[in-house]
Amino acid sequence: MSYRYETHLHTCQASACGRSTGAEHVRYYKALGYDGIFVTDHFFRGNCAVDRSLPWEEKVRRFCAGYRDARAEGDRVGLQVFFAWEESIDGDDYLVYGCDEDWLLRHPEIEHATRREQLELAHANGGCVVQAHPFRMRDYIHRILLGSRYCDAVEVANAGNRPQDDVCAYRYAKELGFPMTCGSDNHHSGFAVRDPAVTWGVETETRLTCPKDYVDLILSGAPMKLLCPPERLQAQPGMTIEESFWLDENERPVPTGRDWLKG
Ligand SMILES: [Zn+2]
Ligand SMILES: [Zn+2]
Repeated sequence: MSYRYETHLHTCQASACGRSTGAEHVRYYKALGYDGIFVTDHFFRGNCAVDRSLPWEEKVRRFCAGYRDARAEGDRVGLQVFFAWEESIDGDDYLVYGCDEDWLLRHPEIEHATRREQLELAHANGGCVVQAHPFRMRDYIHRILLGSRYCDAVEVANAGNRPQDDVCAYRYAKELGFPMTCGSDNHHSGFAVRDPAVTWGVETETRLTCPKDYVDLILSGAPMKLLCPPERLQAQPGMTIEESFWLDENERPVPTGRDWLKG
């Protein structure tokens, strides 16, 4: 048996750029034959829809609204729905898996954690951190920062990326020996608005019973099937990529001097 999961998705209840509710996402993925989804809304340093000036408890409660909506619909239609989030530190983005709403309520320090602290906090709870689309360039990302010291795995294929971003991420992850994940970064679900061919994710051989099963799968280093076209990870003529930087032990950028498309 194999099981299909979306690993990267945003709801309009908690992400300012989200267009679909949690429930709308669930109905779409159910119709596509997925087994489950992770709701990974933009956390408080990212494009979050929640008022940051609210008290922590209220802020967390509102942040979880998209997940709760998805979860209720998932229970109704038979789709697994798991909680996670995506934090943005300095334009570099991290998916954090394995910590839930109760954990967030007990750990307000996560809101301003450094990359190192974020990784340590996640590990202390049996969770993990995946750097999302490390080679993406957007208006909110002023340079490519590679957080190799601050994550457990790399999202090598992201349906919202330019193809060259994924080629570089794949080569980077391969060279450094990182476990690889794949996700849609889906903000908008529905057959009228989204091409099912670019709705990606991962395929597992065992059914996930909880988010920590996914964490264990990532940390085990066992290869996961990436649900994207294989050519997505192959360099094509004419591709170019911007300069990239390592984040050193003090989380400061150091040029890699590498052309990851050639490497
Ligand atoms: Zn977004
Ligand atoms: Zn995202």
